[in-house]
Amino acid sequence: MMKQLSIDLLQQTVNRSDLGLIVLDEHLSIVLWNEWMAAYTGLPSEQACSSGILEACPELLNSRVHEAIINTLLTNQPAVISNVLNRTPFKLYPPASIKQGNKDISCIQQAVKIVPLTGTDSKRLCMIQISDVSAAVKREKGLEQQVKERRLVEQALDQERALFIAGPTVVFTWPAGDNRIIDYISPNIKQQFGYSAEQFLNGEVHMTDLIHPEDEENRLEEINRQILLSNQIIEQEYRIKNENGDYRWVYNLTTVVRNDNGEISKFLGYLFDITERKLIEEKVEQQAYYDELTGLANRRMFMDRLNRELTRAKRRKYMGALFFIDLDRFKSINDTLGHSVGDLLLKRISKLLQKNLRQDDTAARLGGDEFVIILSDLGHQVDEVTENAMLVAQKIKSTLGEKHIINGNEVHSTPSIGIVTYSGKDKYSADDLIRYADTAMYRAKTAGRNEIRFFSSEMQQQVDNQRQLEKSLRAALDNKEFTLYFQPLFNNKNKIISAEALLRWKHPEKGWISPADFIPLAEETGIILPLGEWVLHEACSQLKKWEQSHQNQSNKAFLLPILAVNVSPKQFRQKNFVSQVKEILQQYDINPTRLEIELTEGIVIADVEDTIQKMNDLKSLGVKIAIDDFGTGYSSLTYLKNLPIDVLKIDQSFVRDITKDKSNSAIVRSIISMATNLGLYVIAEGVETLDELDHLISEQCAIFQGYYFSKPLSADEFGNFYQTTIPTKI
Ligand code: C2E
Ligand code: CA
Ligand code: CA
Repeated sequence: MMKQLSIDLLQQTVNRSDLGLIVLDEHLSIVLWNEWMAAYTGLPSEQACSSGILEACPELLNSRVHEAIINTLLTNQPAVISNVLNRTPFKLYPPASIKQGNKDISCIQQAVKIVPLTGTDSKRLCMIQISDVSAAVKREKGLEQQVKERRLVEQALDQERALFIAGPTVVFTWPAGDNRIIDYISPNIKQQFGYSAEQFLNGEVHMTDLIHPEDEENRLEEINRQILLSNQIIEQEYRIKNENGDYRWVYNLTTVVRNDNGEISKFLGYLFDITERKLIEEKVEQQAYYDELTGLANRRMFMDRLNRELTRAKRRKYMGALFFIDLDRFKSINDTLGHSVGDLLLKRISKLLQKNLRQDDTAARLGGDEFVIILSDLGHQVDEVTENAMLVAQKIKSTLGEKHIINGNEVHSTPSIGIVTYSGKDKYSADDLIRYADTAMYRAKTAGRNEIRFFSSEMQQQVDNQRQLEKSLRAALDNKEFTLYFQPLFNNKNKIISAEALLRWKHPEKGWISPADFIPLAEETGIILPLGEWVLHEACSQLKKWEQSHQNQSNKAFLLPILAVNVSPKQFRQKNFVSQVKEILQQYDINPTRLEIELTEGIVIADVEDTIQKMNDLKSLGVKIAIDDFGTGYSSLTYLKNLPIDVLKIDQSFVRDITKDKSNSAIVRSIISMATNLGLYVIAEGVETLDELDHLISEQCAIFQGYYFSKPLSADEFGNFYQTTIPTKI
């Protein structure tokens, strides 16, 4: 009964509105259909109210509107479907069967708002407001008519707002020309924000004082702008301070009410608390677009900014620069000082980066210790832009390179910086630019770190070559382009005691390619896994062949005691590495003690537990373990004490310097003496001259490998070499 009454009342009051008004209940049944709707659709109110919105106005119910209605009914949140200014209005076609009287309107454009209401019997309702914004319609109506209708609207709305005081929507009006006076506000303001309606009406509280200062200016500007555009409906979101002093986000829908002369006399506002929604939105936005650790933009946000920046550079014809920054040796800081120090360092670096940027620039963390920066608008000439970018890069390099005190630790971290400049003219995509800057950064790294490099087309050439190489590397295994070479190792009695298997690749066009060039690439691309497995097969197969010829020639041919095989980190990290080795040894029927695995120091540090486990498993098979390139990594001898290692191979660089550099010779001496104490064999690699050999012998080194004795040889050459030079068996 109550509902019926209030709806009737509402129907009367809003009938003359120049907005289309429909009120729906939860079942989408129409409880109100004003005359505007009747006129525009030809469907009289009584008829509309006996049906659902679907039958009465299927044209309105496109999926967006439908969804919004359901959403408003479920969540009590207002919705706006279209706005002439920034959203595309959709069209409402009146049913063809219905005549429009003398109005020749085949379609109108409108903006649709959906406002949650609570009926006086506290049922959930929603009001759909349709405002006609098609200019053609406006022009047809005389000003006089408009004024008349508006006055009626004003009266109607006065009454309308009184109806919905129980709902969450606060209704208020204020006269034009004075922002500080409110001449009506619905009493539910008390539940929503803590102030009573009286406090507003008697001037004790002013709405403008409650609005967040950051929002107030925008709010007024937007109202004035919309008024200038003769829009009747203004939507805004801003913050209001409630009685506790907390700010709440509100959605504010303001309607302009005009007087008889067509001048604005009043504003009618609906306020709706959307704090909850805003908080969720903010959180989602924060997670989606910002790096959690540093608060810088994340990759997603960065890509978005970069794309926009490129468009802007094109439009305004300026040039800018993209930096790719990678911290040098960040991993070892993380490993030695712990991740919490690493995290704090990343935060510190982020702050320092931001300090060096202007407001229009963007810094982002792509992940790990990789940062990117957009330096917008650095000028118009290449020279000028390059110079400006260089200045910023140098500033960044010197600030980041200073010592940082983190948790009491003195941390030193330098950046390698790659730069690419862009202009509106070039056709590079955002992805291209990042790749180029990355390439330049990589150059800075290989140039010794803590360097700055600009991207050049010559670098691009290298990148292309690298890609080409990768492609042919993938095909090389199938095409049987790999061979194993063997380099003998000698003891101090000039006898071969073992050999190292070294991979060779004969490219169909490029000829021999050095393992130094393709092993890192194979490692990076994972090709090393099948390739490394092939090496193990080939090494064992060759050992077997030599063994057989030794037997066939009634022991005259040399029997190589031990063959060493290089194993790369990725290969060693494979879960089934040990069982793979075991199966291959079994397949070729090789005594495991004849196989030696060469690992680099890096492997040991990366994952100590896994390393020890695998080394012990290999040891229990009988396989020997050597640490390759010893002295170039970070590990200390005492550290290696806990590992089941048989051999240390002193890196070539120490051997090279041993005759010239006293301190190097001292290092070699201490490595040898400590290794001997630990019961390890020491091998000197890269022995090229007699001088070097003599020196090493005087330092008590007993095993040698190098060009002085022999270069790596093919399997056949190795057999012959042995027979011609050292015909004795060990
Ligand atoms: P590495 O394990 O340190 O191997 C020794 C390298 O020094 C070999 O280079 C060898 O030819 C070279 N060498 C030997 N004696 C001398 C000398 O007196 N003077 C000079 N200057 N060099 C000498 P190579 O064969 O070019 O191999 C380079 C690197 O490629 C190897 O260094 C190793 O790290 C990697 N590699 C080679 N074969 C394999 C393989 O089958 N698997 C894996 N994972 N890596 C391999
Ligand atoms: Ca080696
Ligand atoms: Ca080596």
